[in-house]
Amino acid sequence: MQGHNPFPMPWVNGQILTEEGFQEGSLEFDQESIKEITRQKPKEPMANGLVLPLFVNAHTHTGDSFIKEGLEGSLEEIMAPPDGLKHQLLEKASDDEILAGMRQSMERMSDSGISHFVDFREGGVKGTSLLYHAALDSQATPVAYGRPAGMEYDKQEIESLLRIVDGIGISSISDWNISVLEKLSKDAKSSGKGFALHASEGVREDVDAILDLEPDFLVHMIEATDDDLERCADAGIPIVVCPRSNAFFGKAPNLSNMLAKGVTLMLGTDNAMLSSPSLFDEMRFIRQMSGEKGNLTSGSILRMALNSRKALKGQSALSLQIGQPSEFLVLEWSCENPEHCIVARTSERDISLIARGGRLWVKRRDGLKEESNWQEGRS
Ligand SMILES: [Zn+2]
Repeated sequence: MQGHNPFPMPWVNGQILTEEGFQEGSLEFDQESIKEITRQKPKEPMANGLVLPLFVNAHTHTGDSFIKEGLEGSLEEIMAPPDGLKHQLLEKASDDEILAGMRQSMERMSDSGISHFVDFREGGVKGTSLLYHAALDSQATPVAYGRPAGMEYDKQEIESLLRIVDGIGISSISDWNISVLEKLSKDAKSSGKGFALHASEGVREDVDAILDLEPDFLVHMIEATDDDLERCADAGIPIVVCPRSNAFFGKAPNLSNMLAKGVTLMLGTDNAMLSSPSLFDEMRFIRQMSGEKGNLTSGSILRMALNSRKALKGQSALSLQIGQPSEFLVLEWSCENPEHCIVARTSERDISLIARGGRLWVKRRDGLKEESNWQEGRS
């Protein structure tokens, strides 16, 4: 029992991501929190390797996970509401189909060390309810950014929506009547909820109009000018980038320039129908497309993935610290350059341990399996 444990607490050894960077040593923990981080390495750890905080996927649309066909068309033809191909398929799909797809994506996320994902959920109150339903048995927790079912402002609908969501997540200002967006943003703020939107994805959009909506973060900004990026940096508004999704439409964000302009970048995986929801896959893609050059190093790419934790209110630590909840993963690597191994070479198969919510999963021959009675300590 907690507090009456006569045995030492469990620990993991290796290179631990602390505030000062990766540090050799061990991390001792119990069901609730990290108890100690030291430079000693006691024998018989529960796992050995690179020890990191769990990841947050800063942008997903798990609702379209069920779409398995390769859709062809421009960004607008596929994605723009209300008539884009994706929205037509969502409209036609049964709840069971959508739920099964969402569950598949959530399982992939929890298996790849993702504790939370910021999901832009279409379909109003019903759409967000489906997301929560799908997440009931999931180890990946949704941060729900819902939106109205239609393109109009309906006060009653928004009140119901704001009761259940973490925020409102909009396609883009080009799709919407700006006065509707102003009301949505105002309502979200006054309910203490977030407001965020896709911006300058297919074409450049007016940064003044976007910033006037006081977004908590923006998604994409690949067509933004240097001045637009500087405005975001000055306003302290992070940008979530999803390069694999952009590549599907033949585009690439200039991440190096975004970093140079001082923007805080977070990492998301965007539409589940286009890309796997693993941040390891997203990091590896960036590394492969860019190589290690200039300011776009493995370290800065890993930083983008860790920055996504800022999307969680009140849980923004980007490293492991004593007293924090026992939420971390271990990758079975021993590396001269941990950032390089994580960014260039890692997939979920390299995870040897995940600690989360007082539970523990350890790698076995057939994948990660939950460990029972681990909290009783070591004899
Ligand atoms: Zn998106």
